[in-house]
Amino acid sequence: MKLLYKWNFLFLLLVSINAQVYLDPNADVEARVNDLISRMTLDEKIGQMTQAGRAFLDNDNDINLYYLGSILSGGGSSPNPNTPESWANMYDQYQQYALNTRLKIPLIYGIDAVHGHNNVKGAVIFPHNIGLGATRNPELIKLASQITAKEVAATGIDWTFAPCIAVPLNEKWGRTYEGFGETVELAEMAATASIVGYQGNDLADNETIIACAKHFVGDGGTTNGIDQGNTEVNEEVLRAIHMPGYIKAIEAGVGTIMASYSSWNGEKLHGHHYLLTTVLKEELGFDGFIVSDWAGIDQLPGNYKDDIKQSINAGIDMVMVPDNYIEYITLFKELANENQISAERIDDAVKRILRIKFRMGLFENPYTDRSLLNTVGSAEHRAIARECVRESVVILQKKDDVLPLKKENQKIALIGKGADDIGLQSGGWTIYWQGGSGDITEGTTLLEAFNKKTNSSNIVYSESGNNLGDSEIAVIVIAEDPYAEYEGFREDLTILNKDVQLVKNAKEQGLKTIVVLYSGRPMIINPLIKYSDAIIAAWLPGTEGDGIADVLFGDFEPKGKLPHTWPKYMDQIPINFGDSNYDPLFEYGFGLTSIHDSEIGSAPSVFSAYLNDDGKTLELTLNKKIDFNSIESSNFTLIGDEGFSSNSVGVSSTTDSNTISITFETAVQSKIKLSLKYNSGTIKSLDGGVLNLFSNKFVFNGLFGIGAINTIPGKVEAENYISMEGIQTQPTDDIGGGENIGWIDSGDWLEYDVNILATGTYKLNYRIASESQAGIIQLENGDEVVATTLLPVTGGWQTWRTVSTEVSLTKGENKFRINAVSGGFNLNWFSFDLLVSVDNTEMSITEFTLLQNYPNPFNPNTIISIHVPQESNIELEVFNSNGELVKTIYEGYLNQGKYNFKFNAENLASGIYFYKLKTPNFQSIKKMILLK
Ligand code: BGC
Ligand code: BGC
Repeated sequence: MKLLYKWNFLFLLLVSINAQVYLDPNADVEARVNDLISRMTLDEKIGQMTQAGRAFLDNDNDINLYYLGSILSGGGSSPNPNTPESWANMYDQYQQYALNTRLKIPLIYGIDAVHGHNNVKGAVIFPHNIGLGATRNPELIKLASQITAKEVAATGIDWTFAPCIAVPLNEKWGRTYEGFGETVELAEMAATASIVGYQGNDLADNETIIACAKHFVGDGGTTNGIDQGNTEVNEEVLRAIHMPGYIKAIEAGVGTIMASYSSWNGEKLHGHHYLLTTVLKEELGFDGFIVSDWAGIDQLPGNYKDDIKQSINAGIDMVMVPDNYIEYITLFKELANENQISAERIDDAVKRILRIKFRMGLFENPYTDRSLLNTVGSAEHRAIARECVRESVVILQKKDDVLPLKKENQKIALIGKGADDIGLQSGGWTIYWQGGSGDITEGTTLLEAFNKKTNSSNIVYSESGNNLGDSEIAVIVIAEDPYAEYEGFREDLTILNKDVQLVKNAKEQGLKTIVVLYSGRPMIINPLIKYSDAIIAAWLPGTEGDGIADVLFGDFEPKGKLPHTWPKYMDQIPINFGDSNYDPLFEYGFGLTSIHDSEIGSAPSVFSAYLNDDGKTLELTLNKKIDFNSIESSNFTLIGDEGFSSNSVGVSSTTDSNTISITFETAVQSKIKLSLKYNSGTIKSLDGGVLNLFSNKFVFNGLFGIGAINTIPGKVEAENYISMEGIQTQPTDDIGGGENIGWIDSGDWLEYDVNILATGTYKLNYRIASESQAGIIQLENGDEVVATTLLPVTGGWQTWRTVSTEVSLTKGENKFRINAVSGGFNLNWFSFDLLVSVDNTEMSITEFTLLQNYPNPFNPNTIISIHVPQESNIELEVFNSNGELVKTIYEGYLNQGKYNFKFNAENLASGIYFYKLKTPNFQSIKKMILLK
């Protein structure tokens, strides 16, 4: 007995000497970290610092073999079928591999749950951050993040690459909607709210996940809004505008921070020791870990080994590799053995990663808590998203008598594809990286929401706006096509012609018109102001369209406030709150707080001032109906750029009871910017309100045209015409086909406003279909016929083929006219690829599937990135300026994803080259310069 006791005692003693402190849930986190790291080999440490993309795992067993510390799903990288259960299964399976390693260190799995658990079908989709910024409601933002965390946790996943706390200062940027708004205050408010929402009070709680503040730092401040561009500001400005959100994030205990692809004054953040280590870790005291962005280190100068060395030494702790993890690990090990990356740096990084894993309770609960699965997309969660939508809606303008919509006795038409499309309603980062259109996930479209609010017999839906029945009022939904990141850059944010036409058409049929805009940023709306009776910014609301209906039908008073300044013109961008000479269309923070009619007898306000394209008559529209007897002796002055000034010579009534017509002495001849002064008079509304004199009202100059100008090179949607003869639009059958022009017969024509950015030779492609007749199509540039092309019979009205020819075009704004010399065919779009540019103009990039090459001018280590939206056969080739093929970089099948190709240019002479990405139905060409 005694002996036994003794032996037992000895045994216990032995166990405690060897006790694996790191496995003891009651031990202090730092003690666990130190204990674990003391047991780790170099391979195991490097493994922790590696994040591989799920889609790029050569073999699941690599998790075990290379001790991978982390896996991620990039946008749209989902298991099949895409259900919450299969996500959980996938997660658990990967985790199993990690737990089979010697030290059983669990994986941390990351994903972009940036507006709900947006890769997962059936999850609730919240408004994108720009909409949440419009709510100005931190409690709601916190709740939204809490729900997202719960849905993410339900599928096992531990970590979201959110919130994006960028301060987007230029709306051309394709990531504008990922930030909460243009001011530091919004970034700070939202950083705290969302991080507390995701992480909760206890990271070990099974309903919380780890957050990632991104992209450190200055991502929203790049010159010209270029994604992954260069933020050219001094340190004071960087700290004042782009840093405060991170201070709040750290105060809120954020677990991870992602480095930005962008540069600060020419130096890439991914290699920036001062900002990552000296400032973020040392000065601001960030004790979590820094993750790189997707292949972000690849953009550093030098070869891949240099990239690893520079980024890790700068302070990156975990690299989102995501594809070539074996090469990364191999080279990393060489660097460690050569002491080019010190053991201390590696230990610091690994400790930071382990610290988070311990705080999260991953060692204790590595697998999915499946009891949460049935909360994914639950009614309760959707109710909160609906609240977010409701509070995010900003009423920009409205005339009396228009809102609220009536639930009874009012015939309402919904117009536009966006009115019944969950994909467009949700935007990028929804199911797919770039988002998509149609029923890509479950949710309530605006049309469905309207049908719930009213007796549905009062609702008509007409996508094209051609069949409005006896509707009295139209709600026209104008939606930006979904996009994310680089692909979302737009040189021109003007509403497209085809969308203006929808509003104009409804107005001309005598309906009242309410425009609802789904967009990731303010758009230039001038061309449609004249045709609308109310304009509403609904951002990218997500799956709960009911929230918009709540406001429009008056069940909820609007609360949304602009998170961005709303510009008058494209060339005002960048325009931000606090700028000197701040003169926007709507100020930051603006938003009507009631949709009901203004008070009886109160002063009317100007809804819009629109100078017609005769340059002489101006339509001044008020929110109230006008007492036309009061307008006779009124005086106005039209003031413009270039010293233009002209006095009114006549003021008269119009058939529209809200609009006065003013005639001026001298006609405006060109596209100048205008404002209106109301010098004298007593214009009254019918209810007796007196219009106050004003000195500087924005006037839209109708000579600017009806909508966005099509830029060449680029794609012209056939339906985006400014005028036509004999044709009509119809939906195109295939996915992503949008609309096409049908019934083009001999003698029919279409006209387009275009801006040709470079003089040169272009490849002109027509996407056409024709059932039985070979047509002839002609392109006129100005008055000159530049191409006549024979069209084949494709065998069906929706059997599409692309036919190409070459044209020479001269730089400048012009009109294109498509003539049907002989019919009949359908046209979906036509596009121009620049083959050889004569004047060497820098072009705005309109096709973004061929992402970028860097550096450019390029060197022997240039990387060409491409995005493959769906699995397909691709060819990536390089041509010289004579159009001769000099290299095939890749030819074959690729899965959906983002790829980087190293392009070795060692044997090429200096000069201009073109690289071309080709798939069976897509082609894009870009230019690059080689300087040796
Ligand atoms: C984006 C990040 C994102 C990452 C992973 C990158 O392209 O810049 O914001 O978290 O991909 O999907
Ligand atoms: C088809 C159109 C086509 C037209 C020609 C219609 O039935 O929908 O695409 O242009 O026939 O007559």
